[in-house]
Amino acid sequence: MSQTYHKSITWNRIVPLIEADEGYAICLDCGADYDGHLEPDAHGVECTSCGVCRVCGVQEIAFIVPISDENENPTEEPFMYEYPL
Ligand SMILES: [Zn+2]
Repeated sequence: MSQTYHKSITWNRIVPLIEADEGYAICLDCGADYDGHLEPDAHGVECTSCGVCRVCGVQEIAFIVPISDENENPTEEPFMYEYPL
C-alpha cells in the first residue's frame, strides 16, 4: 500500500518552511498550506482548504519528499509521487 502527495509539494518548497521552524504544515492531498501552526511531526490533521485529513508538518513531509537537486537524476520522476505507508 502506498500514498501519494500533491505535485506542488517539493523539497525546494518545504526547506524554507522547515528552516523557519514556525510549525508550518501542508496538505498532502491538495498541496495547500495549512492555515495555522502544528507540531513538527503532526500528520493526519484535517485540511483547512479541502477538508481531507492529510495535513502533515513540514518536518514530517521532509521524510516523504525526496531531496531534489535539479542537476541530478531527472529520470526518477515516477518514484517521486508515491511512498510506502
Ligand atoms: Zn487539503
